[in-house]
Amino acid sequence: MSDILTDVKMPFCQGCGHGIIVKSLGNAIEQCGYSEKDIIIVSDIGCSGLVDPLFNTHSLHGLHGRAPALGVGVSLGLDNTSKKVIVIQGDGGVTIGLQHVLESARRNINMTLVVMNNLLYGMTGGQISGLSTQKFKEQRQFEVDVPPFDIIKLAHLSGAAFSARATSIKTFTDVLTDALRTDGFSIVELSSLCTSYAYKKLNDFQEVIEEAEILKNDRFPVTLSKKTGKSLFESLKSYSKEFTNNVNQRLGVIISGSAGGGVQSAATLLASAGIVCGLHSTMKGEYPVTVGTGFSIAEVIFSKTKINYTGLENPDIVILVSEDGLKVAKNRIKNNSQVIADISLMNNGLENLDKRSLVYGNFIQVASKKGAALCAIAYWLNSGGLLDLNALKSISNSHRLSAELLKTIDDSGKVTINNFN
Ligand code: SF4
Repeated sequence: MSDILTDVKMPFCQGCGHGIIVKSLGNAIEQCGYSEKDIIIVSDIGCSGLVDPLFNTHSLHGLHGRAPALGVGVSLGLDNTSKKVIVIQGDGGVTIGLQHVLESARRNINMTLVVMNNLLYGMTGGQISGLSTQKFKEQRQFEVDVPPFDIIKLAHLSGAAFSARATSIKTFTDVLTDALRTDGFSIVELSSLCTSYAYKKLNDFQEVIEEAEILKNDRFPVTLSKKTGKSLFESLKSYSKEFTNNVNQRLGVIISGSAGGGVQSAATLLASAGIVCGLHSTMKGEYPVTVGTGFSIAEVIFSKTKINYTGLENPDIVILVSEDGLKVAKNRIKNNSQVIADISLMNNGLENLDKRSLVYGNFIQVASKKGAALCAIAYWLNSGGLLDLNALKSISNSHRLSAELLKTIDDSGKVTINNFN
């Protein structure tokens, strides 16, 4: 048995084809020279989703049909070609999350998707899936007029670097090895016998697979294409360090206002400014489902070192530019938080909170509701000196609304401050 696999007993029914695929995958991983720590298995829901304990590798378990999306996140986050993300799905998972498969292929994400196709939903009792062959459906007198998805062709047409189908267990390891050696997105559809809901004997199953019309022409083990693609990271604009910073330890900033007030844009500009100051930075935002109403809050984190955890429990700076923003962020202000609020929020209870300092500025008056968040950020940078204000200007300069943004930043010099403390 492969070292990649644990000695945990296979959780599948007796004779189930999934066990053969797991062993073939273990062999293929070893043949490619990967160690256990190089592999991240991402599983889906269903019988195929029982594989996690069978691998000595890293593993994650996703929602039904969503495992490819999870795999994309892991692959992009790692951005390391010496590691391999392997997503394992059944034909049911592929049917439910088809768009995730096609999107992974379209973007040519560096990962391998292994589709264990047993032609049915095994865990829920044998219902047919979108990949069930015509012949199989004929036998069950179900939906014969609706042809199955050809996931291999679909992935190929969407841009997968490697797409292959194997119906004979003798070829599984070789096809999987080719897929794992592919740079970019590879997909392998492997036929897997479900002894509980399909057939007891492999021969019967093989007959259905091979007799299915869609397989007769071009559904035998085949590699449709091999090409190299550009990763998402390679197509992103890159920033280099051009400005200075005085950030010595991890720094968290909350910017909170109302929808339509430019909070998310201002936070993005701030996070980008951190990068051109040589810092690592993250930004995430939140607002109600009904766009254009209610609060809009964003978190920006800066650090000299890589940011692995993006939670922000103790914000150092809290910028508040509307009542909606105050309501949603009030409970997040901590003893060590410095609060910068619009003057319109005076006498709203902020004064009573336990915090390090509080200043009010006429940000809305100077920059309007739309520009208040950016204006307050510019004021903070100018007064605190943690990041070079020119970094914010430089980032804003390449924005499509550069003139408006640069005016707002410059106008922050006109802000009148009421220092509460
Ligand atoms: S129900 Fe079918 S696919 Fe699921 S473990 Fe049993 S034999 Fe395998």
